Amino acid sequence: MKYAVIKKEYLNKWLEHLKKSARLYAPQKKENLFVFRPVKDVEKVCLKYIPTILPPKKYYFPQKEKLLKFSASPFKTAKAIGEFEEFILFGVHTCDIAGIQCMDVIFRETPEDPYYLNRKDKMTAIGIECLEYCDKYASCTAVGNHEPRGGYDIMMVDIGGAFILHINSKKGERLLKGLNYIKKASDDDMMALERVRENKKKIFNNEFTAPIQEVYRAFGKSFDSEVWQDVGKRCIACGNCTMVCPTCYCFDIFDETDLSFNDGIRYRIWNSCQMDDFAKVAGGEDFRKGRDARQRHRYYRKFRYSQDKFNRYFCTGCGRCSRTCMAGIRLIETVNSILEGRDD
Ligand code: SF4
Ligand code: SF4
Repeated sequence: MKYAVIKKEYLNKWLEHLKKSARLYAPQKKENLFVFRPVKDVEKVCLKYIPTILPPKKYYFPQKEKLLKFSASPFKTAKAIGEFEEFILFGVHTCDIAGIQCMDVIFRETPEDPYYLNRKDKMTAIGIECLEYCDKYASCTAVGNHEPRGGYDIMMVDIGGAFILHINSKKGERLLKGLNYIKKASDDDMMALERVRENKKKIFNNEFTAPIQEVYRAFGKSFDSEVWQDVGKRCIACGNCTMVCPTCYCFDIFDETDLSFNDGIRYRIWNSCQMDDFAKVAGGEDFRKGRDARQRHRYYRKFRYSQDKFNRYFCTGCGRCSRTCMAGIRLIETVNSILEGRDD
C-alpha cells in the first residue's frame, strides 16, 4: 500500500501508538512560538504551526555532542561514544524535510560522518504538507519545497476530515502495520488529494522576482555587489541566522579534560560562519574579516556554491533566518536586491 488514509478522529490514537514505538518528537506551542519537543501529551501536538524556533536538526545533529572519551596515561585508544535510540519526528514541514536531505548530502560525503549516520539510521520522519503559507518570511516555493520531494518515511496531507498518508519507506510501512483504523486510500481520497494540490497552485507563488535559476546566475555576477555592504553594516554578527538554519552544518571540535588533565571527552558543537573568528587561521589571517564578507558567504553557501557542488540549493525557504534576525535582514529582500542589480 503506497497511499493510506487516517480519519482525523484517530490521529491521537495513532500518536499514542507512535509514542509507544519510539521516542516521539513533534511541534508544540511555546508561548507564541513553536518548538519540536518530546511528546508527553498527544493533545499538545500542533500540526498548524509556523516553523519551529530550531529545526528538528537538533535531534539528528545535536548542538553539542560527545564524540569520544580519551585517556593520556596509560594511553588508551580513544573510545567512541555512540548510543543512539530510535526516534520519530512527527509533523515535519516539507521545507524541514528538505533540510534533512541537505544534511544527508553533507554527512554522507566521503569521509562519511558515522555519528550523523548512526543517529539518522534510528530516525523515522513523518512529514506534513503545508496547504497555506506559514507567514511572510517563507520562500519555499522559490526552491520547490512547498511540495514534498522525498526524504521522508511518511507524508501526511490534510484532505478535510482525514489525512492521506504517502508511505515512502519500509520504516514508514512498519509504523502503520496492523493498525485497523488506517485504511488503504480509495479513489475518492486520491481525487481529494489532487484537488488539494490543485488549490495550492493558487496560493503558493515564487517569492523571488525571478526563477531560482536566475538567482543562481545573478549570484555569479554579484560578488562585489553593494548589497553585501548594506547587509554587512546592519548585521550584528550574532550568528542566530545560522543556528536556526536547517542546512547549516558547520561545527567545532574541542577537548575537555578533568582536573587531572589525564582523562577527557571530545565534543562537537555547532559553529557559525557569522562569528568574528570563524575564518581566522594560524598567523592571525582572517579570510572573511568583515560582516559583509561573512553575510555574502552565507548567501553564497545557499544559492551558488551548494548548487555547483551538489546540484542542490541549500536554502529550504523555511524563513527562520529572517524571522530571527534582530537587525531586520530578510532573505527574500536580499535575494531580490541581488536580482535587481543583475545586468542582463
Ligand atoms: S541573525 Fe541577522 S544580525 Fe545575526 S548574524 Fe544573522 S544576519 Fe547578522
Ligand atoms: S537560509 Fe534562511 S530560509 Fe534558507 S534554509 Fe536557512 S534559515 Fe531557512
